[in-house]
Amino acid sequence: MKKTIKRTIVGTLLFATMATAGLVALIFYPQSLFANKFDYNQFTVYYNKDYKIDKEAFQPILDGAYRLVEKSELHNPDFKYKVFLAHNNIFNKIESLQGGDVLARATAWNIVFKTDIDIKNNRIHSGGNSIDLTAILAHEMVHILQAGKYGLLNFGLLKHPPMWKLEGYPEYVARRAYLNSETYDLRKEIQRFISADIPTKQESFEAVPGHFMPTYYFKGRIMVEYLMDQKGMSYDEILKDQRAEEAVFKEMVDWMNEQ
Ligand SMILES: [Zn+2]
Repeated sequence: MKKTIKRTIVGTLLFATMATAGLVALIFYPQSLFANKFDYNQFTVYYNKDYKIDKEAFQPILDGAYRLVEKSELHNPDFKYKVFLAHNNIFNKIESLQGGDVLARATAWNIVFKTDIDIKNNRIHSGGNSIDLTAILAHEMVHILQAGKYGLLNFGLLKHPPMWKLEGYPEYVARRAYLNSETYDLRKEIQRFISADIPTKQESFEAVPGHFMPTYYFKGRIMVEYLMDQKGMSYDEILKDQRAEEAVFKEMVDWMNEQ
């Protein structure tokens, strides 16, 4: 009797270990769960058998995101991006084990869209937000490059730089069209943030018109933008900079007030 119980426990543990290892392997290598794929330049896009993908319309979006990321100091021309359209795939549930309620996520070398994408209009529609698909894709690509350059262990779930550096830089790269628009002015953007009342910016903030994001995405973006465009720092230097977030923020506000 005892032996049977022991064997059962050992068997259960072994099964649990194998199942966990299997799930972890799938998070890194989910290709087998997707029936279809297409290659385009530096991208491979994976999707379900029954998913009707408009490849013609998707290509300029992939090109647009690539052009944004190309300007980043982390750009690596040899890098290949794997994009998974997972909203109607079992993989969506598996990768959700990592936590977080997100529209898209970069894990290791994979970019996963967890919500359906509107390729024709270059948008993602979510909770009243209409989100620029090119910008989201570029943002996730920068995460892949961060991990590619600095290592998965330094840019992973367990260990990563402060959130404003982790998320601010991908936003800075991905929002280039907005930052280049004629009416855009960093000083006005800082002012918009500091003059917003607390409830308006406590958790989320309108990062670009029509898109509310967790506040640190926006705050991180303007801080990275200030350090790079006004102070001439590289992302590498920003990562090495030991100053506290609030010290950098205060310096930025002082700069704004001097203008
Ligand atoms: Zn991000």
